[in-house]
Amino acid sequence: MEQAVDRIECDVLVIGGGPAGSTASAMLARRGHRVLMLEKDVHPRFHIGESLLPANMPILEQLGVLERVRELGVLKLGADFPKEDGHVTFHFRRALGATPGYALQVRRDQFDHALFEHARESGVDARDGCKVTSVAVDGIGAVCAEARTGDGRAFAVRARYLVDASGRDTVLGNALKLKRRNPKHQSAAIFAHFRGVERRAGEDQGNISIYRFAHGWAWFIPLPDGLMSIGCVCWPDYLKQRRGSPEAFLMQTLERMPEARERMREATLEGEVRVTGNYSYTCTRMAGPGWIMAGDAWAFVDPVFSSGVYLAMHGAMQAADLVDASLREPSREAALQRAFDRRLRRGVRVFSWFIHRFNSPVMAGLFAQPRNVWRIEDGIVSMLAGDVFDDREVMKRVHAFKFIYLARGLSMATRWVADWRERRRQARAAFSGGTTPVDSA
Ligand SMILES: Cc1cc2nc3c(=O)[nH]c(=O)nc-3n(C[C@H](O)[C@H](O)[C@H](O)COP(=O)(O)OP(=O)(O)OC[C@H]3O[C@@H](n4cnc5c(N)ncnc54)[C@H](O)[C@@H]3O)c2cc1C
Repeated sequence: MEQAVDRIECDVLVIGGGPAGSTASAMLARRGHRVLMLEKDVHPRFHIGESLLPANMPILEQLGVLERVRELGVLKLGADFPKEDGHVTFHFRRALGATPGYALQVRRDQFDHALFEHARESGVDARDGCKVTSVAVDGIGAVCAEARTGDGRAFAVRARYLVDASGRDTVLGNALKLKRRNPKHQSAAIFAHFRGVERRAGEDQGNISIYRFAHGWAWFIPLPDGLMSIGCVCWPDYLKQRRGSPEAFLMQTLERMPEARERMREATLEGEVRVTGNYSYTCTRMAGPGWIMAGDAWAFVDPVFSSGVYLAMHGAMQAADLVDASLREPSREAALQRAFDRRLRRGVRVFSWFIHRFNSPVMAGLFAQPRNVWRIEDGIVSMLAGDVFDDREVMKRVHAFKFIYLARGLSMATRWVADWRERRRQARAAFSGGTTPVDSA
């Protein structure tokens, strides 16, 4: 380590000034803690992850930034998914329970900047252009870190507690070797902003559209100022075929989804095409003595249900409660961390179950032709709205949907096996009768 020149003392050091970091910082500062939040980039900066969920709205309200974010965002009333002859729209107003019937689509440069400034206004010592270069934690009261400003000036930090909200950089996950890539989901995404893309009609003009293709899926997210965020998440085998520029690859991939491509007749690219690779992972732990992770710093799951920012801010809210309580009563820390761990894993598991089956024919069929028996479809809308933690009525519907999924899968498999047996029987009968099967050529 190089010699650090300055030293800052605080109660809580927060690494990262994205949604998780700004949320946890603001909540902790409001409770009277001295919070230092360090962000390596300079706001406003580009970030992907522009579609928010309805369950995120009460968090923004609690933070006191909902009105500000509303001014930045496009109203999102639902999500549409493909079916054979078009698409099916799930409107959030049908959700069970208290989740709001809307969400917002935001440009992340503006959204993250607003949250960062709000944290500063809440009393946080929020510094951007400052990268944490090393960190060590040895329990409450024993956090040591080193950081560097954009112009190369190093400084040291001593804190009582550490919140790692460093996103996909997973600062602590790497330092403690806790990060595990998800071998089943090593996909990558390629995305850009476009102008002149056709929007859905009427009240649905702000909705997110999801498309499927044989090697992945795509999103269309309407943004302010006439922009549309378009991206494709691709499985690894398909990515290996990539030739040419990222722009050419993105356009070739979109050609595989004619309905999506049709909406881009008049489209022009705005800015660069970006790629992010190999991206699902989880850290084996999300908390320990004197430290906690929030948001992508702990885990990242495929964004097909736009769950990332909500999970990050929800986790950050919970983390702020935990840090506040642990600083006041250190003896409660371990029990609080166990409860935090259980809760976060439970919510992520709900999304993960749907994500891992999203491209299966059974799931595609169920999403294309939803049935609202016993309000199961409304329960799925609630899941899409982000209601995955507390509402037992929603969870009952999610379990019922899983049962239907398995039953449908089984009946498809049974039918497939019966068809295969019948074909084999006919072929045998034809041969044993001395005749030549018609399709034997
Ligand atoms: C292709 C793709 C599409 C997505 N689409 C959606 C979507 O539509 N909706 C949705 O909700 N989510 C989406 N997500 C997920 C979403 O981007 C993340 O879940 C969300 O940004 C997590 O917030 P966070 O605060 O945990 O991390 P981040 O937003 O990544 O913030 C972490 C911050 O930490 C900073 N940092 C990192 N290392 C250091 C360091 N050493 N020192 C100081 N600062 C540091 C980073 O610069 C960054 O600003 C998508 C993700 C991908 C990859």
